[in-house]
Amino acid sequence: MYRRCIGVLTAIALASGAATAENVHRDNWYASGASEVTSRLGVEPVTGRARNVILFIGDGMGISTITAARILEGQLRGGSGEDNALSFEKLPYLALSKTYSNNQQVSDSAPTATAMVTGVKANDGAISVDAGLERNEPDLEVVERHALATLLEQAEAHGLATGIVSTARVTHATPAVNYAHIGNRDWETDRLLPQGASVSDIAAQLVEAQSRYGIEVVMGGGRAMFLPANEVDPEYPERTGTRLDGRRLYEEWIAARPGSAFVWNKAGFDAIDPASTRHLLGLFEPSHMLYEEDRADGNEPSLAEMTGKALDILQGSEKGYYLMVEAGRVDHAHHAGNAYRALKDTIALSDAVRAALARVDLDETLVIVTADHSHVFTIAGYPERGNPILGLARQPGSTAPRLALDGRPYTTLGYANGRGYAQLAVGGDTRYGIPPTPGRHLEPDWVHETEDEGYHQEALVPLADETHGGEDVAIYAGGPWSHLFRGVMEQHGIYHVIRHALGW
Ligand SMILES: [Zn+2]
Repeated sequence: MYRRCIGVLTAIALASGAATAENVHRDNWYASGASEVTSRLGVEPVTGRARNVILFIGDGMGISTITAARILEGQLRGGSGEDNALSFEKLPYLALSKTYSNNQQVSDSAPTATAMVTGVKANDGAISVDAGLERNEPDLEVVERHALATLLEQAEAHGLATGIVSTARVTHATPAVNYAHIGNRDWETDRLLPQGASVSDIAAQLVEAQSRYGIEVVMGGGRAMFLPANEVDPEYPERTGTRLDGRRLYEEWIAARPGSAFVWNKAGFDAIDPASTRHLLGLFEPSHMLYEEDRADGNEPSLAEMTGKALDILQGSEKGYYLMVEAGRVDHAHHAGNAYRALKDTIALSDAVRAALARVDLDETLVIVTADHSHVFTIAGYPERGNPILGLARQPGSTAPRLALDGRPYTTLGYANGRGYAQLAVGGDTRYGIPPTPGRHLEPDWVHETEDEGYHQEALVPLADETHGGEDVAIYAGGPWSHLFRGVMEQHGIYHVIRHALGW
């Protein structure tokens, strides 16, 4: 009965052609809703073999992060924001991914990324090794018995070109699962290995991979893991490398393959000719690359630029390619309780996906955009339509903020835990040195500060680091066999869909 009434009303509105503001409003909603059907009717599954695969991972990019970033991007373009769509939201297929790991209800990046690239759920901290390995196992032979073959290694064995791009250190968990096998994700440099360990640190394993099969593109941060401890960083004279073994791993990486290049800043990156470069190592910061918000302060390419350059090199491959692209710092900004930077880095990932979609043919390239896990990040409080997403929740039609039972306003965005618990919320990165002070901190005249780049959204439980969230994350997909991404899936199923699409 309800449905029929709506239909009659709509028919009257359309038939009368009444141009009152109210009717135009109603007709616009009706038309945009109807286009959700027509836009889907023409979409046919692509069932040919995938030649190429691009796996985008927004580290910690839960669904609330995507919604808030969509609104922020729309508002930065001058709209109300809610009806905006990020680039990957237009991909035709969607599934939910269950992110628990072998031993944790709420996961870390290491086992979740391992699940996606090896098809096996692993334990907290594990880099492409199964759950039978002790986290701190130092013996190479034992580690090798538990090593899991990765998509990147299998792609190389099938003759595909391969690439890894991240805004985190290239030795950080998500990029590392592609080429490294180790029980402890923190062993990124030999300085952090236990005494007498025979297993190589993660940076050294990247060089070993280069000797064994030769990755075509590796770009991100983490330069200090590739430089000796007594060697000064090329960009920051006050900083040095980390390695105690004295190895210059970037030189070994170049020497491992002909046609290799190493770059460490934007000028070097821009000078790379994809036609003549067969292997490219780009390490743009000693540690992680800068947040997108801060990138202008540094000397490094954007995630979209790195994705484009990686594709320029990989698309020269005769047999196709496998590329993983990680927006690694969505996660870090959330851990800091700083939604501003998390959302800006999510928009940067959307830009990178858009750059890729402009260069590939979805008849032969499988494009997947997902997250390894979520964060305890919420959008709440009945703010009016178009309310600044980083602002205080306001009454509809009023500039006055809504007030909680304690008489204080609150922001639309918040965290269930983290450093935004107290007055340490004000100012820049206050991770160290400021003790938590109990209680809510917002006063009505703080309206503008909640939208500042350094603001830490309020949190319920005081923790030095906001934590990951355990609910499902989304998988967006287009291209060959992307229609297999539907319904609620296990995260390690992603690996098997990719293999199926590649015809392996
Ligand atoms: Zn994290």
